[in-house]
Amino acid sequence: MLHRNADGAPCALVSNIQRYTIHDGPGVRTELFFTGCTLRCLWCSNPETLRPEVQLGAYPDKCLSLEKCGRCLKVCPEKGAPLQFGDGGIIKAVRENDTCRTCLRCAGECPSRAIRQWGEWMTVDEMLKAVEQDRSFYRRTGGGVTLSGGEVLLQWEAAALLLEACKKAGIHTCVETALNVPTAHMEAVYAFTDLVITDIKHMDTQKHREFTGAGNERILENIRRAVELGKKLVIRTPVVPGYNGDEENIRAIGAFIRDALKGKIVQYQLLPYRRLGLEKYDALGIPYPMGDYQPPERGEWEREITRLVQMLSTEYGIPAAAGSGGKLQL
Ligand code: SF4
Ligand code: SF4
Repeated sequence: MLHRNADGAPCALVSNIQRYTIHDGPGVRTELFFTGCTLRCLWCSNPETLRPEVQLGAYPDKCLSLEKCGRCLKVCPEKGAPLQFGDGGIIKAVRENDTCRTCLRCAGECPSRAIRQWGEWMTVDEMLKAVEQDRSFYRRTGGGVTLSGGEVLLQWEAAALLLEACKKAGIHTCVETALNVPTAHMEAVYAFTDLVITDIKHMDTQKHREFTGAGNERILENIRRAVELGKKLVIRTPVVPGYNGDEENIRAIGAFIRDALKGKIVQYQLLPYRRLGLEKYDALGIPYPMGDYQPPERGEWEREITRLVQMLSTEYGIPAAAGSGGKLQL
């Protein structure tokens, strides 16, 4: 449902705005990360976007200590009950104990950003203003705006309004989505979307469910529909050795792109797994789902990805690439 602020203006809950990104669409882009997600991928590097709510993150090494500071406790209407402290200072900002009112006074008062707010309600106009700030970069590089997450299409109404406003302002639009959403929501946003970036994480739906929390049927159906609608599509696989990086899976994805999609995509990108976002898991007090998992040595794994890309190009005739940094033929 479309969220509105007290003045009736449509809003979205956004965890972060990243400027000057170059990996999610052509040129230099401004990327907005919407919160809430329908998947729980084991290798997710944006845990702050999973829950559709404002969250608190704690960074113990930044805390000045209760003795020297203690401002968060003084302003907390719950007398600091949601905050946990150790000898050196803050350890955790607990949201699960139901005492936190999410008033965010602690984060606002903290002088060293040891408590950080993740997620902010922004009106469509505020988001548009943030996007328009970088217009000169878009002009020079062929860039634009990318809406990402989390799953941006959970807030599809606000996303559609923002994308429509961007199109009216002459800004290139890109949506990065897992597509595990109702087809109607996807179609409502596509009317204002120049490029779609999505993932196929595994062709075996059981394994897809094991690694992401949901089967792949709806995702594959939505990808087929996107191609039917003539959308420009980049498909990615975050390649995680031991999970989905085997040749059999990559071949199955290659066959799907060649046969079910008739190869009508802009690019198929194989992205090497990187152990990212660990500090955010720590700050939110969530264990990293991959535990101590370490991929093979980087050079060895990158050589394997290069081999898979060549195989996809020569045997399946699809535009495959290693990584997300290459030029897109739009
Ligand atoms: S958000 Fe408000 S209620 Fe929650 S811990 Fe911070 S100050 Fe206390
Ligand atoms: S306000 Fe910040 S620096 Fe001060 S005690 Fe609280 S968490 Fe630590």
